[in-house]
This record gives sequence, structure tokens and C-alpha cells, in this order.
Amino acid sequence: MSDDHRKIAGKLVIATHNAGKLNEMRELLALYGVEVVSAGELGLPEPDETGDTFIANAIIKAQAAADATGLPAFADDSGLCVDVLGGDPGIYSARWAREAGDFKAAMTKIDGLMRDKGATLPRQRRAHFVSALAVAWPNQHVETVEGKVFGEIVWPPRGERGFGYDPFFLPDGHSRTFGEMSSEEKHGIPADGSQALSHRARAFQELARMCLK
Ligand code: IMP
Repeated sequence: MSDDHRKIAGKLVIATHNAGKLNEMRELLALYGVEVVSAGELGLPEPDETGDTFIANAIIKAQAAADATGLPAFADDSGLCVDVLGGDPGIYSARWAREAGDFKAAMTKIDGLMRDKGATLPRQRRAHFVSALAVAWPNQHVETVEGKVFGEIVWPPRGERGFGYDPFFLPDGHSRTFGEMSSEEKHGIPADGSQALSHRARAFQELARMCLK
């Protein structure tokens, strides 16, 4: 497919029902002047995330929305990977929070499992967030990218901002958790085009180079 075919023109569906992710994706897409409508606003059902990678699940969500609407659709599958837990909760990040009851309980569980493994020092508490983005066109063409941000898990959680696991994630080189940052700080997009901060903003930068400019 030529480069022109994969540029996004006109309206784009954001295939997420997660309010926190939707807000961030809207903000990031607004930077590129793209008009968006969400899967929730269109009343689209949420497909089962049956993939075993972030990318596979992002493709499932984007393709389902593109098929249902006839518009290009955009999906993020994301999560938190903790080194000492062998990458858990990973693609099951949302499920762990559902099963624990809420994110506070899920963070308490993760911190407890880390302590059970003896991970009390910062260097033993390494983790990263992953954001896999997929854009699917109604003609079945799909593009994917993945962004990561590395850091450590702190305890207790700090900050009321952001969403999900933000309050106990301290990105490398920063003294405040994602939960203590405004969304602009968390995106951390430098004016000079150098690397953004959050996993999602990093993935968007790459996707923008491919499809949005
Ligand atoms: P899914 O991509 O909808 O399957 O869910 C990803 C899970 O990881 C959700 O529980 C999110 O709240 C969590 N998550 C994804 N990105 C972030 C983030 O930027 N900050 C905090 N939690 C996140």
C-alpha cells in the first residue's frame, strides 16, 4: 500500500470504552487536528480481547470498530508490566483491577506480590507501561505501533490525577508519579519533536509519523 493510502483523512473512531484512555487519546489526536467519535458514543459493543499480546488485542478492537462503522478506527491496548512478577499483570491489567474490585486494591495486590518476592529496593521494583496502537481501515488494512515507558513501582501510591495504575508508577528521571502529573506533563510531548514521556504519547508520535501528518 502506498504511503498516501494509509494517511487518515476525515473522521476516526476511537475504539475504547475506557474513559481515562479515551480522554488521553482525544487530547493526543486533537494535536493532529483529527475529528474523532468514540465507540461508546456510537454504542458499539466491546469485542472480547482474546489475543495473547498487546498488539493482537489492539488489532481486534480496531478492526471490530472499523467493520461496524465503515470508518478508520483506532484502538489502544495497554497495561503495566512488573519485572519481578514476570511481566504481570501485562495484558491482564484491566482484569486484575476488575477482580481486585478497583485500582487501589489492584495496586495493593501488586505491591504485596512484589514484597513476597523480596522486592523492596527501587532497583528491584522495575516496571514499564506499554501502549500498543492499531489503526484499522474498513478495507482491512492495519498499521500498528508500540510505545513503552520505564520506571519503578512506589509505595504508597501518590497523587489523584491520571487513571488506573498511574499513582504508583514513577517514570525514570522524574520525582513525581504519573498520578501527580497533569495530563500534559504525563504526555510530556516536547516542542522540538524529541521523545514524549508516556507510553501512549510515544506510540502516538510514531503513529503520527506514519498516518497523521
Ligand atoms: P485495556 O487496554 O483496556 O485492556 O486495559 C489496560 C489496563 O491498563 C487498564 O486497566 C488501564 O487502566 C491500565 N492502563 C493502561 N494505560 C494506563 C496508563 O496510562 N496509566 C494507568 N493505567 C493504565
